[in-house]
Amino acid sequence: MTAYEQSAWMRRKTAADMAEILGQRGFVANAFDDRAAAVEHIFSLIPEGAKVGLGGSMTLDDLGVVERLRSGPWNLIDRYAAPDWEARMNAYREALLSDVFVTGVNAITREGELVCIDCSGNRVAAMIFGPRRVIVVAGVNKVVENLYEAFARLRKIAPLNCRRLNHKTPCAETGRCSDCMIQQRMCNYTGIIHDGFKEKDRIHVVLIAEDMGF
Ligand code: SF4
Repeated sequence: MTAYEQSAWMRRKTAADMAEILGQRGFVANAFDDRAAAVEHIFSLIPEGAKVGLGGSMTLDDLGVVERLRSGPWNLIDRYAAPDWEARMNAYREALLSDVFVTGVNAITREGELVCIDCSGNRVAAMIFGPRRVIVVAGVNKVVENLYEAFARLRKIAPLNCRRLNHKTPCAETGRCSDCMIQQRMCNYTGIIHDGFKEKDRIHVVLIAEDMGF
């Protein structure tokens, strides 16, 4: 087996293991070896006519999910089409009452917890309460051992997101967190979803055996 084949096997194994662990935590979790199958599964969970909200996610962009939602038989609350900040905030608020909220995630622990950090809190809030169904999509690069590693991961990726979204934070220049105390700060709200027992069949996790997003 080549090194590439070994690492591909490891990614598949991680995705499959995590689907099992998350299932034991009350989430509905499925693992996919390839993107196309994952995307088809995502759309099988979104009924025609559903009002769909989005959490910020490079993974969803990479998969073409946002583009497909714009052109299909769904009522997309398109946060990216908002002309100004107030319209963006209104899209965030509307998404809290969507039928389906589709989002990425920043970390998934081997203990089966979902961990996200937000600038505005819209994603964390919607994942926890509001939308009737939540679809969390993640590559296996999001998998970490525990919450300690998850928090370390959040601070490691935040500088990249600051640069990507043009937030004028110190870390966007240095690449390292200095716990900035400024209005442009990205790391304002951290959410941990410990399990999916409260509302069965609400939170679906789609694991892809690839590295996706930060
Ligand atoms: S707290 Fe500030 S400096 Fe630290 S990662 Fe977040 S935005 Fe960057």
